[in-house]
Amino acid sequence: MKFILDQDLHIHTQLSPCSSNPEQNPQTILRYGEEYGLRDIALTDHFWDEAVPGGVGWQGYAYISKWLPLPQGERTRLHLGCEADMNRANVIGLTRETAEKLEFITVSINHLHFQMGKDERHGAGWYAEQFKKRWNVLLDSGLPYRKMGLAHPTYRGVAGNMPDPRDHLDVLEAIPDGVWLDMFARTEKLGMGVELNAKNNEYSPDDFERVLRVYRLAVEAGCHFYGATDSHHPAHLAPRHENCVKLIDALGLTEDQKFLPFD
Ligand SMILES: [Zn+2]
Ligand SMILES: [Zn+2]
Repeated sequence: MKFILDQDLHIHTQLSPCSSNPEQNPQTILRYGEEYGLRDIALTDHFWDEAVPGGVGWQGYAYISKWLPLPQGERTRLHLGCEADMNRANVIGLTRETAEKLEFITVSINHLHFQMGKDERHGAGWYAEQFKKRWNVLLDSGLPYRKMGLAHPTYRGVAGNMPDPRDHLDVLEAIPDGVWLDMFARTEKLGMGVELNAKNNEYSPDDFERVLRVYRLAVEAGCHFYGATDSHHPAHLAPRHENCVKLIDALGLTEDQKFLPFD
């Protein structure tokens, strides 16, 4: 049976500084969920646990839990999650204790664009090494993987502040198939999901193929996937939902490949 897009497990609210749009709130997001027949939505604002030194500018649980109790719909369940981050020293801004309080955690290991100096430049191989190193840190962290997902594995931030927005595709290509397969297989073995990044409207057909290569390797490694729009604004919700459907279709995903952290 074909993969039905009935979840969106990566959405920001106005509490994220890069959103700050007052209409981007749980009520708006719940209406979107009901309209699109979504079963589960996770609010995942940018996050850094107060208990971990070395923050990258985000706030912690006391701040994001302002939304509690979350409104609930007839068919859509809203969950309090976060987008956890990793700093330049490869420290994850989340303790196990705080992780217990959250229903879902998407972890970004490729937000290098706002953590590196504006003029810092390296070759694609260097960024590829960083990405691998940071992914290993995540897989060795002992966090509760079964309610966690790997955020946007093909995101452009992996290439830091490289000037051409297409540079990240070179970084993804600098990682050999065997390395992707091994890392995705370990991610799956720990019980973590892999996010279907819905920003693929920014790609030409050729570039989209380069992104699909990574996702196909995740499929080959046996990963489980979840829908995610990474919306920061109400206007992102509908088009990115459609993008996510396109990605699912391009990969030919089926229901048994869906990541289900709440069931
Ligand atoms: Zn992110
Ligand atoms: Zn995000």
